[in-house]
Amino acid sequence: GEPLLRVEGLKKHYNVAGQAGFRRSVVKAVDGVSFELREGETYGLVGESGCGKSTLGKSLLRLTEPSAGQAFYKGADLFKQSRQAMQKYRRELQMVFQDPFSSLNPRRIVGLALEEPLAIHGIGSAKERTHRAMEILRTVGLQMEHYYRLPHELSGGQRQRIGLARALILNPRIVICDEPVSALDVIIQSQVINLMQKLQRELKLTYLFIAHDIAVVRHISDRIGIMYLGKLVEEADTDSLFANPRHPYTQVLLSAVPVPDPTAKPERIVLEGDLPSPIDPPSGCAFHTRCPFAMDRCRTETPLYREVAPGHSAACHLT
Ligand code: SF4
Ligand code: MG
Repeated sequence: GEPLLRVEGLKKHYNVAGQAGFRRSVVKAVDGVSFELREGETYGLVGESGCGKSTLGKSLLRLTEPSAGQAFYKGADLFKQSRQAMQKYRRELQMVFQDPFSSLNPRRIVGLALEEPLAIHGIGSAKERTHRAMEILRTVGLQMEHYYRLPHELSGGQRQRIGLARALILNPRIVICDEPVSALDVIIQSQVINLMQKLQRELKLTYLFIAHDIAVVRHISDRIGIMYLGKLVEEADTDSLFANPRHPYTQVLLSAVPVPDPTAKPERIVLEGDLPSPIDPPSGCAFHTRCPFAMDRCRTETPLYREVAPGHSAACHLT
């Protein structure tokens, strides 16, 4: 059937002032990304810090304005909506950040922060909003007493539960999670991910789960997209991607994932150099400066992003 959200050719370019005497440059943070979110799935979006995955997430909610492209949700293009109409859609598309409390008032009890989205959208009386906040605390595995806590009185895991609660209080259908567990230690990470899976089943949520660590998204994702310098370079269902990665960059990311039996694992491929700047990305295949398999044509010819097997797309001259 129709996907819940269909994104076509999303671009986010912005100008940066050059140094004195130099022209202004264009940063191509997101440079033509197309993908879809299917109802009830988790789509893992993976790439190094600086590849544009957070910008992509924020562009979908227009927390940053996209430069081009379309995002169809329930028959409407989100990128064409007025500010006012977008408010309505924001109830259904919510975002969770790595540290939900970094921007919140440290002297304000968390219950009030939880209720804030309801107040912003003019939902319910003060009493009803408090009741709903207490209810959503239980939904994310906390107790009513947490309503009265200050942010610093909560652990990292509890804070991320509050972050989830704050996103869920409006009954969204899609939750864009930007590195929601990256700041947590491994045990707490798996608790929060288990909670997210439970919430997904109970509340029929669809997740876009953004992470730099492919191991983190493996168990929660139905499908995974790999991003490099503002573009998707590979996409497949999780099992196919792990069993048969087609793009050398994906192979590099997977070779860094720890496995229980190291003898059953291909040798670790180490990337040369840093992620190039999105201001002046390499010509041809943008990965050619770091690719262990780069050929002459990779410097000049941009590989097409195309289906290489059913449901499996990649952009590499070798596939
Ligand atoms: Fe490597 Fe060339 Fe494939 Fe790019 S197109 S990933 S440089 S082999
Ligand atoms: Mg980021």
